[in-house]
Parts: sequence; structure tokens; C-alpha cells
Amino acid sequence: MENRIDIKSLNLEELTQLFEDMGEKGFRAKQVYQWLHVKQEDSFDEMTNLSKALREKLKERCFITSLVQEQVQISKQDGTRKYLFCLEDGNVIESVLMRYKHGNSVCISSQVGCRMGCRFCASTLDGLVRNLRPSEMLDQIYKIGKDIGERISNVVVMGTGEPLDNYDNLVKFIQLLTNEDGLNISQRNLTVSTCGIVPRILQLAECRFSITLALSLHASSQKKRLELMPVANKYDIREVVDACKTYFEKTGRRVTFEYSLVGNVNDTKEDAEELCHLIQGMNCHVNLIPVNPIKERDYVQSNAQRIEAFKEMLEKNRITVTVRREMGRDIDGACGQLRRRYMNSHEK
Ligand code: SAH
Repeated sequence: MENRIDIKSLNLEELTQLFEDMGEKGFRAKQVYQWLHVKQEDSFDEMTNLSKALREKLKERCFITSLVQEQVQISKQDGTRKYLFCLEDGNVIESVLMRYKHGNSVCISSQVGCRMGCRFCASTLDGLVRNLRPSEMLDQIYKIGKDIGERISNVVVMGTGEPLDNYDNLVKFIQLLTNEDGLNISQRNLTVSTCGIVPRILQLAECRFSITLALSLHASSQKKRLELMPVANKYDIREVVDACKTYFEKTGRRVTFEYSLVGNVNDTKEDAEELCHLIQGMNCHVNLIPVNPIKERDYVQSNAQRIEAFKEMLEKNRITVTVRREMGRDIDGACGQLRRRYMNSHEK
């Protein structure tokens, strides 16, 4: 069991404290912080503006989290890249790079596996293995940036895991990622997606970050949501929508509702009408996602007419809506599928 400190998960104050505890000057902390988060150096030996003695001392007390790229799949259609990274305990996680005209966007995992049990999702089929530490969330972005040699401008926490089920590490990650002494990604360019853990949404609202909250709604009634998302047993759909209203009031940030369209399950005219009613008057945005079928379940995508009709109904009610462009269709599509295929092929 590693009992050294995970130095990449420390914020500047904590790092400064660590240096003071070691009897070192506080300003050294900033130097090390920059090595870790700007130059993204993974070896104390390369931190050449520190004395050899200090580097040795750091090695004794701390370790640097560094993900190892195990695999990458590159889409021939749109340049999307799916990465598999290996953690120091042998677990693997996946992250995705999407290239848009306006910049590079990375989708990261927040947990190894997930315990939320959404019926259409591949990431949750084997349950939760463990939470990711802030450093392990950050390093997905650092390693992808290095791999392509370009700046990452947007981050979405929409990969495997439920970020609000790993709340403290998520908040720390947000602080590290958007810190001006680090990679300095604007909070406005960060989106956190949740299945709707109400008390945590309210807690996050109190942090007053300028990040975007994406709420995975996927149904317009409590009854239908229950069929797709076990988390609805705990929080009623109206409570979830109310929490999103509070989030907007506290942060001024428009919430995005994600709605995966599942053929003949949640894509009818009545579903669309009910959705309009549910979110009427809110300052929000709806993102329609044609469901990505996974082989373990028999859900199918809605057909093109149904998707268009659903979209038109929302527009008629003056709700802003987009249909998510499917990227990387030619490489293992849905969340958790690449990891799952890898795990299955490496099982003894
Ligand atoms: N746990 C978080 C973030 C991870 S999932 C959440 O629930 O929001 C990211 C998004 O992808 C969620 O909206 C999720 O419901 C959706 N999703 C998962 N599997 C999918 C699939 N097979 N097809 C379409 N969307 C899917």
C-alpha cells in the first residue's frame, strides 16, 4: 500500500504547507507546482531548479501520479481519439479527445466503473471499482495534451463514473484544473455531467464555480425515468429539476439537460410534450443524444423522423435544443465500451 503523498493532487496551499512542514521555503512549492501542472513533469529528477537533496527528500515523501497510455484508437472520420490509460494499481480507464473547430475537448472518467446502474450504459455493468483521485482525473488531460502536442481548451467530465459520487475529489480537480498557476483552463470551458444526485448538486451550486452542469434527464416523467435510471428511486424527477433551477440561481450558469433518445421508450410526441412542460420557463439547453446501443441490452436508437419531430416540438416551445453529433462512430462508441472490450479480452 502506497503511503507516500500523491503530490499532484495537492493544491498550492497544501503544497506550500508540505514544504513548510519539511522545513523548506514556501516559494519552492510554486516551483514544484509549475513543474507538475504547467510543464507536466513526472520525475522529481527533472526538476532542475531544486537541489538534489530536496529532490531526494520529495521522493521519500511523495509520488507523482502518471497514467500510462495502454491503447489509442483514432477515428478516420473525424480525428476523435479514444484512449485507454493504465493506473498504478493495474486498473484501466478511458478518455476521449474530440477535435472541434473551436478547439480540443477532452472527456474524462471520474471513477473506475460506476454504481449508478443506468440501464443503457456500459460503464456501470460491473459496478464501481474505486474513485479516481484528483491527480488521476487531471493526468488524463495532461497526457492527451502531450500526445497531440496541442492545447486542450475544453474539458467534460462525462466519461465513466458519476462525478458527484466522488464529490470531494471532483471539487479538488476543478480547483487544480482551473488554477491560474496550473493549466489554467477557464471554468466556463468545463462541464460536469451528473445523473442527478440532488444534495450534491445543491452543494456544488454553493461553490459558485462558473462551470456548466449537465443533467442526465433521459425521461420526462418520474415513471419513465425510473425504468431507465435507478437513481430516480432516490430523487424524484421534480426534485432534480428544482435542484437545476437552484443551480442556475446560484451560479448564473444555464443548465444543459441531456436526453438520450431510446427508440419507442422515451421518444414519442407525448414524451416531448411532457418534457416541454417539465422544463418550461427555465434558462436551459437540451442536448438530444441518439442512444448508442450496447450489446448487453436491447435498446435501439430512435429513427431520424422521431429525432427531428422531438427536436421540433421543443423548438416550438422555444426551448433551445441541439442533437449531439456522433463523433468517433467507427471506434468503440458508447461510454465504457472500449474499456469493457479490453477487460474482456484480458480476462484469464
Ligand atoms: N454519470 C454521469 C456522467 C457519465 S455518463 C451522468 O450520468 O451524467 C455521460 C452521459 O452519457 C450521460 O448523459 C449518460 O446518461 C450518457 N450515456 C451513457 N451511456 C449511453 C449510451 N449507451 N447512449 C447514449 N448516452 C449514454
